[in-house]
Amino acid sequence: MTQPDPPDHQPTTVCPECGGPSREIVYGMPSEEFAEAAEASDDIVIAGCCIDVDDPDRECKVCGHQWQNPGFRDGLREHLGLGLGPGSGSERR
Ligand SMILES: [Zn+2]
Repeated sequence: MTQPDPPDHQPTTVCPECGGPSREIVYGMPSEEFAEAAEASDDIVIAGCCIDVDDPDRECKVCGHQWQNPGFRDGLREHLGLGLGPGSGSERR
């Protein structure tokens, strides 16, 4: 046993494109304190108040690639009131 097993429910925080470190994309209108902390930390980027279910939640610090972790969308759909159960997606564009 030379390598620890990574938990499979862990969100992907390493860029799938270049393997670089990433930061979290936060949506919504943050408080002033949060916005300042986000700017200082470099681990969080604030994307604004508009969010869609297809929006990414991670951004690579190196190449700028953005992606979405699977669990993120589920929580988001719930948050937006879109529902997760069958029969809730009858509206199409
Ligand atoms: Zn990258």
